Amino acid sequence: MHRRLSLLSACFCLLFVPFATHAQKSPIALTGTLVMPQEVIPQGTVLIQNGRILASGADVKLPAGTKVVRTEGIIAPGLIDLHNHLTWNIFPRWKPVQEFGSRYDWQQKPAYSVLMAVPHNALVKQGLECEMERYAEVKAISEGETSVTGSLPSPCVRGLARNLDYDPELQGSFGKIIYNVFPFQMSEQELADVTAALSAQPRGALLIHVAEGAPNDASTAREFTLLKGRGLLRPGVSLIHGVALKPANFAEMAKQGVGFIWSPRSNIELYGDTANVAAARAAGVRMALAPDWSPTGSDGLLGELNYASVWNQGQSPSPFTERDLVLMATSNAAELAGLSGQIGSLAPGHAADLLVVRKEGQDAYWTLTHSTPQDLQLVLIGGDPLYGDPVLLQQVTGSHGERLEVCGTPKAVVVDGKPFAETEKTLDHALHQFGRHLAPLSECGN
Ligand SMILES: [Zn+2]
Repeated sequence: MHRRLSLLSACFCLLFVPFATHAQKSPIALTGTLVMPQEVIPQGTVLIQNGRILASGADVKLPAGTKVVRTEGIIAPGLIDLHNHLTWNIFPRWKPVQEFGSRYDWQQKPAYSVLMAVPHNALVKQGLECEMERYAEVKAISEGETSVTGSLPSPCVRGLARNLDYDPELQGSFGKIIYNVFPFQMSEQELADVTAALSAQPRGALLIHVAEGAPNDASTAREFTLLKGRGLLRPGVSLIHGVALKPANFAEMAKQGVGFIWSPRSNIELYGDTANVAAARAAGVRMALAPDWSPTGSDGLLGELNYASVWNQGQSPSPFTERDLVLMATSNAAELAGLSGQIGSLAPGHAADLLVVRKEGQDAYWTLTHSTPQDLQLVLIGGDPLYGDPVLLQQVTGSHGERLEVCGTPKAVVVDGKPFAETEKTLDHALHQFGRHLAPLSECGN
């Protein structure tokens, strides 16, 4: 949604090869309530080995030597974030004193420049971009995210979240995922790359910001026509924001197989309203949910699920069920990224990207859309336990990890290299030059 240093980043994806380096020597089984694609299994088991889900269900036969961890929680696929700008998540919430007509309005305001753009770009120039990325990925994981987009186009961070739109180590088997903030500024070469990716087998994905502004802003609405003129209403493309899209636009998107990525909190904070998702749903558009960035959106996808659920309850009629919202952060997002069958589900054969949240109430979907970062008990990416409650993390890994505190609740993270606390200290110190400070991992409900 904002100006980043690289507007176009891409991946050459054999997504799961690097995770083989994190293979478990022996299988691990997690027990709890399973959120499966079509059903919830109250007392189920997920069996994991070598970064993959081997089996899942109510009755799973465990090989000899399996380590069994009873979570007593809800086990769900890791959340897939198709709309973020990770390095900007070092900033605390930005509260503009007005609503804007379009993204081009606030991007030229001195307040945005002083508070955000100048310090962000200065920190990058000081060589801190990898620290910014590292901080943002831990923040995303602390919100239940296992796959992210909007990474920097440099190999800064390995072994944390999956960077769907950029990873030079990944080559081959999956479509190229292209994430673009300003699609109308693409060069002819960039457009040719996009066309090639969308025409390839397997097909790539193009995730683009379009029609971001107030619902009745004429210039914002016009972007849909411009997009058609560039030949980009085609399968594999997903539009991000789309606040000014009309029901007829969503009908055309559904007809052309174009997806939609919804970011309600950031829309409402910047423009006073969000996209007409009821029309998108009625038209049959495939939809994902994503937080945009933490300055005006949510800290991550758990927060955005909470926000979307509250928004949804306030509509009459509500366009979505709680299950719909969970699918928008998991299997629907995987589908829009061209990664169905790989991530976004606990079904056998998928990457072992999953989360565990504290069980509350009877409905697992409702629990997921109402969980806070304090409730997040465990996150595994490619079978690697990277984050969670210290006690549970130790049961799975045998190590405590590095201690953190999130909203007064003890958590732990497993990171390679120097301590995460040093990254936080470095960034906070650098931001002080600009009268700013590092955002907390979680706003804790503020
Ligand atoms: Zn954005």
